[in-house]
Amino acid sequence: MISKRIEAAMAGSSAIRAMFMEGREMAARYGAEHVYDFSLGNPATPAPERLNGAIRELLENTDSLELHGYMANAGYEDVRGRIAENLNQRFGTDFAARNVLMTVGAAGGLNVVLKTLLDPGDEVIVFVPYFGEYRSYVGNYDGRLVEAATREEDFQPDLADFACKITARTKAVIINTPNNPTGVVYDEETMRGLARIMEEKEREFSTDIYLISDEPYRELVYDGIREEFLTKYYRNTIVGYSFSKSLSLPGERIGYVVVPDEAADSGLLLEGMSVANRILGFVNAPSLMQKAAALCVEEKTDVDFYDRNRRTLYEGLTGLGFTCIRPQGAFYLWMKSPVEQEEQFVEAAKKYHLILVKGSAFGRGGYVRLAYCVSHETIVNSMEAFAQLAAEYGLQKQS
Ligand code: PLP
Repeated sequence: MISKRIEAAMAGSSAIRAMFMEGREMAARYGAEHVYDFSLGNPATPAPERLNGAIRELLENTDSLELHGYMANAGYEDVRGRIAENLNQRFGTDFAARNVLMTVGAAGGLNVVLKTLLDPGDEVIVFVPYFGEYRSYVGNYDGRLVEAATREEDFQPDLADFACKITARTKAVIINTPNNPTGVVYDEETMRGLARIMEEKEREFSTDIYLISDEPYRELVYDGIREEFLTKYYRNTIVGYSFSKSLSLPGERIGYVVVPDEAADSGLLLEGMSVANRILGFVNAPSLMQKAAALCVEEKTDVDFYDRNRRTLYEGLTGLGFTCIRPQGAFYLWMKSPVEQEEQFVEAAKKYHLILVKGSAFGRGGYVRLAYCVSHETIVNSMEAFAQLAAEYGLQKQS
């Protein structure tokens, strides 16, 4: 027998993965060029040239025992130092190697942070809609996920609702901007408001409440929006980052967590996170990838590639009469379902070989998510299928 916990996880297993598998089956049946799969956030532009070169150089020039050996659970000191230095240059921060812990992607990082922070019953607030895996990550440590609302018109956090959701048991708040699934970037006013409320509630309850900023899409911003590093708004901020999207290497599993000195119990947190890295079985982040990432901290993914997809998809879909939130960052588009039960809409879309993900997978029904990290041709070629879908729902073309 398997555990009840994993049984429950299997039952609620990822709708995104399920749609991806359906897309695969459809592609085998009808040919990949006739299937428009917008399900998975797998980058569609290759890793920067420099990455493969860096890996080759490392293999040729680094002592093999050092390159492939165990190390401190927090990661290589030189790598952590290089990341701190790069953040300081870009964002005017003041980090050192001691503030950085290397992780197995953002997923590994979030698990390490939550393992370190949570006692059973502690509450973690997330803003709806949210990356569905947060529920599992919080559940892994018997935490309680508490949902706070976002505003219907722009999907920025609803601060009044947020303030009501904080209790004496609130240990952490997870934010994700640029956001998966909405593509929204939280604005400055929202960030300041969020910080002010958290400070007030810390005083009211005499607690420390950590803001966990999950930033795998930090560099993927459009329309002149500036990349941000969110520790500047609120003292108790922990940043989780991943190279999965910025260097297009999600399979390699590399990221980091930053805890600023000014965060409450910063030293203890970092020590705890090192232990969590070990006892969760990660032990340390992949050694070769740590070194490669350190050599590539200044590399950028092809933001123009995603931007072009974003514009073509948004303009195409709104032109057909669909209601969409204009994405400001990441590579997701959040579209209103023409019917309240978006599962029906997702099913209808399959008839035209369109693979979408239901909003309820992110805690918010009535919407669907499209991952536009696909080839540009896929987007262009999908428009005829979307036109048929729009016609089925009687949507009016917009000029
Ligand atoms: N957080 C968010 C919001 C994500 O969208 C993802 C991946 O899609 C992750 C975390 C996990 O990223 P990683 O592959 O680095 O573990």
